Amino acid sequence: MSDNKLWHETLHDHFGQYFSVDNVLYHEKTEHQDLVIFENAAFGRVMALDGVVQTTERDEFIYHEMLTHVPLLAHGHAKRVLIIGGGDGGMLREVCRHSSLESITMVEIDAGVVSFCRQYLPKHSAGSYDDPRFNLVIDDGVNFVNSTTQTFDVIISDCTDPIGPGESLFTSAFYEGCKRCLNPGGIFVAQNGVCFLQQDEVLDSHRKLSHYFKDVSFYQAAIPTYYGGIMTFAWATDNEALRHLRPDTIQARFHSAGIRCRYYNPAIHSAAFALPQYLQDALSGQAS
Ligand code: SAM
Repeated sequence: MSDNKLWHETLHDHFGQYFSVDNVLYHEKTEHQDLVIFENAAFGRVMALDGVVQTTERDEFIYHEMLTHVPLLAHGHAKRVLIIGGGDGGMLREVCRHSSLESITMVEIDAGVVSFCRQYLPKHSAGSYDDPRFNLVIDDGVNFVNSTTQTFDVIISDCTDPIGPGESLFTSAFYEGCKRCLNPGGIFVAQNGVCFLQQDEVLDSHRKLSHYFKDVSFYQAAIPTYYGGIMTFAWATDNEALRHLRPDTIQARFHSAGIRCRYYNPAIHSAAFALPQYLQDALSGQAS
């Protein structure tokens, strides 16, 4: 891809977004995906896989803060975290900010994403790959969760959309494996697409996760480069109370964690579980 041209996203038919390309930093086919990292005047460095925007320097903090701090502060005493995917390193950066954690494992299918994002998106990982608690596994996430003897308190599926290698992370086999290696009281969360445009993916995850977890729902945040409205994050646990924590409990945990965020705060945490009526109706099977 040459510089000074437009990069068009290919996620949706009939409409989409584009970015002007000021400078291509890297563009190769890895073992699994077409990986491009380029500079854009509005969003800084942009990384895309197989024609779909994965992350940008400008708005990545919203996504990584919400997929990390909501489950970790809701859990309240997590020690072991598993990240599935996450090759750009942004989720790892946010998880490592929780000093109370003892072990952080990341299972990423594509070693190329890790190495080239470490090189070209250094602000994402921000040195967290060197955290002594961190362990990197290069594998398909579905294989790992169905074979590991380890168990975890929080599992974060920071995956691509359900196309290509990411498809396996939206299957019952994956969700069953996550349930298998979650400790009692554990929480599973996952990026689940922009519900206005990808509602079928939300309903599909809800149906499959409900076979394995007592409390399955979603929470949301709007991330500009995942365009089309709010992004929904899947939420699954056997302890429904974790989704209905008192605001003062969240506030106290946030304060004791001693982290300062750019998007997340306790009020946003509680409000994020409020879902649009059309999605609530679709989830309860009452869509008009
Ligand atoms: N924020 C992005 C989003 O919401 O679409 C996700 C970013 S992260 C780069 C997605 C990562 O998932 C990529 O590094 C990709 O290689 C990885 N991935 C895709 N399929 C996978 C699988 N089956 N097992 C493990 N990692 C996978």
